[in-house]
Amino acid sequence: MELIINNLSKTYSNGVKALQNISLEIPTGMFGLLGPNGAGKSTLMRTIATLQEPDSGNISLGDINVLKQKNELRQVLGYLPQQFGLYPKISAEVLLNHFGVLKGITHKGERKDLIDALLHKTNLYEFKKQNLKGYSGGMKQRFGIAQALLNNPKLLIVDEPTAGLDPVERNRFYNVLSELGEQTVVILSTHIVDDVKELCTNMAIINQGQVCLRGNPLQILENLKSRVYKKTIKKSELKVYKQNYKVISEKLFLGKPTIHILCDVYPGDGFSLINTELEDVYFSEIFNNTNAKSI
Ligand code: ADP
Repeated sequence: MELIINNLSKTYSNGVKALQNISLEIPTGMFGLLGPNGAGKSTLMRTIATLQEPDSGNISLGDINVLKQKNELRQVLGYLPQQFGLYPKISAEVLLNHFGVLKGITHKGERKDLIDALLHKTNLYEFKKQNLKGYSGGMKQRFGIAQALLNNPKLLIVDEPTAGLDPVERNRFYNVLSELGEQTVVILSTHIVDDVKELCTNMAIINQGQVCLRGNPLQILENLKSRVYKKTIKKSELKVYKQNYKVISEKLFLGKPTIHILCDVYPGDGFSLINTELEDVYFSEIFNNTNAKSI
């Protein structure tokens, strides 16, 4: 089973080109779709989930023509949107049971077994009788995964699931996602590099509605090996460094500004070579994409 996206484009009525000829082949397993806010990730996720129409292009999941066979797709789709409402005065168990009925799991015993298994999988079993309004952000997201898995989906879309979660909750969420079988196509859309680093066997980076890079994270890292250097500088020097080097990121390290630059040869000047991280790949792609556009 493979999800194939072909030349997908979408321009909103305000003129924003949210998707520009996006083509991607997404195999089973965890696929990370990484990009900054506004890159077009949600537009792409909603289009794949049949919630909105593109202007042009095709999507297929195995034999299903997604844009034409919406009902067929919905039967095998699990979707956790960026924002979703929950009935606050109902327990997780009762709401899952309700969703289970809606999704056509008519046999009561079968439904109960499935829901118990999902509550265990998402580490919510001991809180199953608690009203959802008492759930933390992380628990709500894990509940979202439980409901998305009710119909044993072949395609699971998870849109920005860890935004706003604290590190402990984020880790719990990673553990739940990492347990999902390799039989499902899972698309994890995120602007958080660590999400992809922890979980994904394949990835793409999108920016301004375009795919800048795709592949296997380890191979992608290999391509940048020995090209990223770092230096701790004074804040006042930043402008000059930006003029002289391809500064792909700047952040504080122990209170001091530290820059990472992209350079094919050793730059000297007090820079030291670093082990390339996925974050460097991300920043360098966004740098290249954004700068290519502004020229
Ligand atoms: P992301 O999920 O990566 O943050 P989105 O798909 O939400 O990106 O947005 C991509 C671009 O399209 C952004 O510039 C956003 O402002 C714009 N956009 C999103 N939805 C709409 C809409 N309904 N109408 C007009 N512009 C939109």
